[in-house]
This record gives sequence, structure tokens and C-alpha cells, in this order.
Amino acid sequence: MAVGPEQFENGLSLMGPMIVAGDGEHSLLLAYEHGSQVPDAFVEFALQADRAVVLQGVKGNYYDGQKLTEEAPFETIWFQFAALTGGEKELSHAYRDFVLKYQSLNTQSRKPYIFYNTWAYQERNKHWNGETYLASMHQQRILDEIEVAYRMGVEVFVLDTGWYQKTGDWQVDTNRFPDGLRAIKARLDSYGMQLGLWFDPCAAAVSSAMLQRHADCTISWRGETPEPHAVWETEVSHRMCLVSRYSEAFADELIRLVREVGVSYFKWDAIHQYGCDDAGHQHGNGDNSSQERADCYAFENGRAMIRVVDKLCRECPQAIVDFDITEGRRFVGLGFLAAGKYFLINNGPYYGNYDIPVPPEQWINIFVHPGAARTRICREPLTFDKWIPSILFLTH
Ligand SMILES: [Zn+2]
Repeated sequence: MAVGPEQFENGLSLMGPMIVAGDGEHSLLLAYEHGSQVPDAFVEFALQADRAVVLQGVKGNYYDGQKLTEEAPFETIWFQFAALTGGEKELSHAYRDFVLKYQSLNTQSRKPYIFYNTWAYQERNKHWNGETYLASMHQQRILDEIEVAYRMGVEVFVLDTGWYQKTGDWQVDTNRFPDGLRAIKARLDSYGMQLGLWFDPCAAAVSSAMLQRHADCTISWRGETPEPHAVWETEVSHRMCLVSRYSEAFADELIRLVREVGVSYFKWDAIHQYGCDDAGHQHGNGDNSSQERADCYAFENGRAMIRVVDKLCRECPQAIVDFDITEGRRFVGLGFLAAGKYFLINNGPYYGNYDIPVPPEQWINIFVHPGAARTRICREPLTFDKWIPSILFLTH
């Protein structure tokens, strides 16, 4: 939004994460790392009557009594500041160039590959064809899809949910892929294509070794651990807290899969910013209120994700991590774009996104129903492209 003198006098607060100012000859930009979805601010720009702009924390930035030690000193989120001679147009060009070429050490995320993902068909198969989500998740069907994807020029072929035996341990389901994805990987290699896999980073199946080793890391709320739920027709799973020691182990799982299976692209789904107020994790303790621990979890959740991506990419520079932000209450901000990219459109939109009531007895996803391609939806990332390259907002 545009801001004039009256907004300063009225003490308006703006969520950001970017603010730009100029006098026609010079321009400057101030931005912060943290992310969430409007209007749920954790950090904000406060406009003051003396024309100062103050960047201030709103909630969750730290917890009362947080101990600072040499091993764990206080670390702020990062900020960006830019100034140049020129107007907003020149500033946006320079900023976009920075984001594309210099903001991330994980440079694979900046390459404009063409991606294909099995999910859209899986969802249509369930809700239009009356099958199950995982009916098409087997070796022959996937080999057939790869043939078509190759002819279409697809460069990264992504198996969505269902390729694994159970969450947490993330072993290939050998009932569906008898040789553990070897034939799939060999076919992709022969076509110069990359393998991508779907993950729910917060899920660990009840019988998984991961859960056994990290029983203290399950999400809890008001002292209760939620009941485990089936994850897309696979074993029931608990939700794990990323702001706990579990996140290190999850990063190690991804590194193992690069080495053992040859995956190089990771689609991360279902990471909600809210939901844990456990006093035994790394977002507050018994001296803090439940609300404070919950806010701190929400604040730290995305930063924990970034650390996992950076650990993975340090060990495996070929990796790309893509975080699905097609649902609400997810960490959307500049920080994750310094580590990976955002998954903006997979199978959507839902009727609700357009304020269209869901027709009776129909599934909420418009794309599940046959019809003309909705290129209008897929062009949406271009509205960000003035500042942030559209490469970073994936449409499969
Ligand atoms: Zn927690």
C-alpha cells in the first residue's frame, strides 16, 4: 500500500516484510526475514509522528526468561537494507537481481526447471474417478507418466504422497515399487530428469523408529498429545515439533535419501505455524504461559525449517526444497527464500479462494473437475515478479 504524511500522524503499523521509500531521486528499501500470512504479524513497521519508521516485534520473538549462553546467544532475525540513486523501478530491478543471484547459497533453487507432480491426478482419481489417492502410486503407472512427462519437456518429476512405507522413517514402499525406486531413478537418469519426493516434515508414524527415538518431540497442546491420524491412506502418525531436537534428525533423513535413493527435489507439505505449547521443547518452558510458548513456537517454526534446508544443502548442494504455501497459517516471508522456494500452486484453487460456494456433493478443489486449463491462476506469481523472481513461486 502507498503511505503519505497522514499515515505517520495516525501512527499506522504495516506488516511488511518490505517497505520502500523515495524522494524521486533516491530510493531505499528495508525488509525483514520473518514470515506469516496477513494479518497475523510477528514483526511490524510502526510509523511515527516524527516520520520515523520503527521495526518492532509483535509476539513470539523470544520468551520471558530465555537464557542466553555462549552456545545459544540471542540471535535476531535478519534484515535487509538497500539504497540507490534512482526511483522505485531501479530499486525493484536491483532487488530482484539480488534475490535471484546473491540472496541464497542454495543456488539450485534459482534454476527455472519445469516440474511435474503426480498429485493433481491422484486427487482427481479420488474425487472424480472414485478411486483412492494412492491407486496410481505404483511402478508401472509412474514409468508410463515419466514417458509422457519426458516428451513434454519436464525436467523434475515429483512423486507426491504415497511413495513411502510410513512417515518418519521414509523408506520406499516396496509393495508399490518392488526395487525401491531404482527403475524409476534409472529411467529419469536416462532422460536427464531429476527425481522429486513429497514429505510431511512434521509426521512420524506410530510404529516408526523416528517416533521411538523422539517420543519427547511430539506436538502437545494444553498438556495433551493429539490423537495420531492416517497420512494419505498410510499408517497413523503423530505430529512432530520442528522447534525441538527432532528437526536435526529430520534433516539427516533427507540427506540419507539423497544418498540412497538419488532424490534431489523435496516438496514439503502440511507445516502449520501454530499448534505446539509444549514446555519441554525449544520454545519456552514451565515458567512461561501456554500462550507465550505457542507464540514462540509459531515464530520459531519457519526458522527451524530454514536451518533444516541449509543443513541439507550444505551436505547436498544439488538439493532443492520447496515449501507448500497453498494453505493458510504457513510461514510466508523472505527468510525461506534465502534457503529454498515456495510451492504456490499445486492442484488449487479451491472454490473458497474465489468466494464461490462449494457446489453440493462436490470436492472443494476446482481443478479436480474437467475443464479448460486455468492459466489465469498460474500467472498469479507474475504479480510478485517485479520484486521477487517468479521462479521462486512454483506452479507444478
Ligand atoms: Zn514444540
